[in-house]
Amino acid sequence: MFRRKLAVLIGCLSFGVNAAGYDLVTLGSKGGIQDGNLTAFMLKSEQDDNYVMLDAGSIVNGLIVSEQKGAFSDIEVPEASPYTKVGYLLKERIKGYFISHAHLDHVAGMIISSPDDSNKPIYALSATNDDLQTNYFNWSAWPNFGNEGKGFKLSKYTYTDLPAAQWQAVTGTSLNVKAMPLSHSGGQSTAFLMKDTDGDVFAYFGDTGPDAVEKSDALNNVWSSLSEHVKNDKLKGIVIEVSFSNETPDKQLFGHLTPTWLLEELKTLEAKSGKGSLEGLDVVISHIKYSLKKGESPESIIKRQLEEANTLGVNFHFPQQGDTLSFAD
Ligand SMILES: [Zn+2]
Ligand SMILES: [Zn+2]
Repeated sequence: MFRRKLAVLIGCLSFGVNAAGYDLVTLGSKGGIQDGNLTAFMLKSEQDDNYVMLDAGSIVNGLIVSEQKGAFSDIEVPEASPYTKVGYLLKERIKGYFISHAHLDHVAGMIISSPDDSNKPIYALSATNDDLQTNYFNWSAWPNFGNEGKGFKLSKYTYTDLPAAQWQAVTGTSLNVKAMPLSHSGGQSTAFLMKDTDGDVFAYFGDTGPDAVEKSDALNNVWSSLSEHVKNDKLKGIVIEVSFSNETPDKQLFGHLTPTWLLEELKTLEAKSGKGSLEGLDVVISHIKYSLKKGESPESIIKRQLEEANTLGVNFHFPQQGDTLSFAD
């Protein structure tokens, strides 16, 4: 019942896929400080051809690097299209932005590409959409490409507030989404649960601290929501952050996770879903910071600390910018 196929790192390979499941292209893998490679994932159900963005820290540069790595080698730009493949993907194939919170490392790519973007919805909890209007699309930081907020509204982007914890259809795709609040150093962030028409679920977590440190039950609520899909063997994969290694004291986490805290949180999901229920679950680690220091990279430290304590049997993945992961049914 709990057997799962491994996510296949297809990299520059591509093969005809008819089975249901999800494809995830990493447009940006870092939680800082590398402009051009900030948190952003393209997700699509294998049931249709269209993508959504899960956060938008790097968009055009992420598409360029991903195209160079062969992530879109099976996509043909229609002859009649005036666009390059990068342009075609951005303007025609990405059907909306899901923004977990308005920190710059999650929205910079969307803001910078907005003048040449196509009309799209921005899906978020209302507090995040309010932050985007107030802080960025306000004719001071940047022209107002939104349909609400200060001054003349260029209305390229339609702020679409998601009700917390309710499924809702995503226009232009075969997906439904459920947004759930997360606690991020006292501020609000968001987990987006995606479900296709087969009931296969993929979960994306924006920045979050552990419940115990945040004094919150936000992650606990997401685990409760996900546990039914784990029990039905329908949870195909998750993206979640580990920003710091275990050496970081709790009071310096600023709303982020360490390997130990992620595994503690995943144990809560296992406890709700049954012993051994997470064996083989694909867990994509995001938001590791680019390091300016010599010596072992934060990524290899975090990788080792996760693997050493991985008593749950989950499969951790550490995609680089441009990598594609396929989550088979
Ligand atoms: Zn961040
Ligand atoms: Zn943040």
